Amino acid sequence: MDVITGITRGGTAWTPSFVTNLNAKTCIGCGRCYKVCTRDVLELIDRSEDDIDEDDEDDSESIASVMSLSNPMDCTGCGACSRVCPKSCFKHSPMAVGA
Ligand code: SF4
Ligand code: SF4
Repeated sequence: MDVITGITRGGTAWTPSFVTNLNAKTCIGCGRCYKVCTRDVLELIDRSEDDIDEDDEDDSESIASVMSLSNPMDCTGCGACSRVCPKSCFKHSPMAVGA
C-alpha cells in the first residue's frame, strides 16, 4: 500500500499521520487543538448526552462543549493537535494515496 508522503524544505521525506478519530468522551472542550490547527478541521460544538463519559473523574457532565472533526479531509497530518491535547483524545494514522 502506498501511503501519502511529504517532503521538508530541506528535502527530507516524512509521512503525515492524519487525524482519524477524536474521542468526545474524554475531550474537555479546552480548545487547545483548535488554536494550533492551521487547517479548517476542528470545530467546538455543544456536547450531546452520548458524549458524556460516566467514568470520567473530571466530571465532564459539567462541560458544555466538545471538539469535533468538522472537516477531516482538510487535515495535513501535522500532529500538532495531539501534541497539545491534555486528554490524548486524537487518533492518527498514515493514509493510502487516494483513500
Ligand atoms: S493533524 Fe494538524 S492539520 Fe490535522 S487536525 Fe491535527 S493540527 Fe489540524
Ligand atoms: S485539546 Fe483535546 S481536550 Fe482540548 S478541546 Fe482539543 S480534543 Fe478536547
